Amino acid sequence: MEPKTKKGKASWDISLSMTANNTFNPIRNIVDGMKLTPNPDKDMIALSIGDPTVFGNLPNCVVAEDAIIEAVHSRKWNGYAPSIGYEVSREAVAKYVSTPNATVEAKDIILCNGCSGSLEMCITCLASPGQNILIPRPGFSIYKTLAESVGIETKPYDLLPSRKWEVDLATLENLIDANTVAIVVTNPSNPCGSVYSRQHLTHILAIASTHKIPIIADEIYEHFVFPGLQYHSLASLTDDVPILSCGGLTKRFLVPGWRLGWIVIYDKHGVFSRVRNGLVSLSQRILGPNSLVQSALPKILENTPQDFFNDTLEYIQKNAAVFYESLSRVQGLFPVMPQGAMYMMVGYEKERFPDIKDDVDFTEKLVKEQSVFCLPSKCFQYANFFRIVLTVPSDKVVEACERIKEFCSSHYVAMEMANGVHGDSCH
Ligand SMILES: *Cc1c(COP(=O)(O)O)cnc(C)c1O
Repeated sequence: MEPKTKKGKASWDISLSMTANNTFNPIRNIVDGMKLTPNPDKDMIALSIGDPTVFGNLPNCVVAEDAIIEAVHSRKWNGYAPSIGYEVSREAVAKYVSTPNATVEAKDIILCNGCSGSLEMCITCLASPGQNILIPRPGFSIYKTLAESVGIETKPYDLLPSRKWEVDLATLENLIDANTVAIVVTNPSNPCGSVYSRQHLTHILAIASTHKIPIIADEIYEHFVFPGLQYHSLASLTDDVPILSCGGLTKRFLVPGWRLGWIVIYDKHGVFSRVRNGLVSLSQRILGPNSLVQSALPKILENTPQDFFNDTLEYIQKNAAVFYESLSRVQGLFPVMPQGAMYMMVGYEKERFPDIKDDVDFTEKLVKEQSVFCLPSKCFQYANFFRIVLTVPSDKVVEACERIKEFCSSHYVAMEMANGVHGDSCH
């Protein structure tokens, strides 16, 4: 039947929303565009996937498993939870994250769909289109994806490989302008594996305090530091900077698929009162995370034995040490030893690999010749590095090192021998 009035369209001309159109995941965009044809004579070793469950060598803790099973069998947790999360679950998170100098309660916690969900809520709660947030470079790509898809600008501040990836503080301060509404700090870091000292965190906080800019702390790797090192949350080191800390079960408890994240609101002076209401409103958009995982939180957070965490970290540190020892001896490479999280960044001296165009080309050729896949640092808005994942089985680590070494020696050119020019070494 012919419509009487001219409503709608004459054909199915369906356009894409601005948000969808502006949403890019740089890792997917770069990786999907790469030519990844492994050497048929060698098994593929993927050092690229930031998911500690893929190899089966790092299982979850049975405490967490049992808590979920019990929740299912009780049939008590099948309904809607409050959109910010169950009170008992938020209380458990508050207890878990509180320190003597930064104590929080259930009212300061919002449960989210993974730490990505927490980050999305924090970024969109603090920033409007046209405003900007400062983000680390190299950095986890999701900050840019989340912000730029809704018209929020991101301004990258540099991390310094020569200083174990500490923040270039002068640049950070210089980037702040009248439209800057938040600083994102990732500690410990993906992709760098850095863990900041108390003193360095204090310097970052001083800049935030001077310019009255709140911090979004991505602390998904809280306590995920190698034996002998200490983790400090940003909130535990300040009395005046308001902080939204994003965390969750994903990494420390080795259950990324469970999608349980949280926001901790640290606000000693009530300057976040509007933000607090804003976060509650935003939580009502998708009504909170899975009720079963929420209900298991008190048991998971209270009863997971310290040994579980220690074992994981010892395993990762051992892998890191093997990679570092071995790759440090490869001419043209300079790995930066991590202090936590599950990654290591390895730099290469560009001038010594004249037949390699950039880090994407480097990692493509490494797949083609040696069937070893690492992420190019372009995925983290950085150049001339590649990222290695440290959760792989130890036998693969040794094999991967051998192959990377072989790859490098077949491409390395000692330039001083050819023309007397020294490449600038970053060792
Ligand atoms: C893995 C990761 C996240 C995301 O965690 P999910 O809980 O899986 O959403 C956030 N930030 C960093 C730095 C990460 O490495």
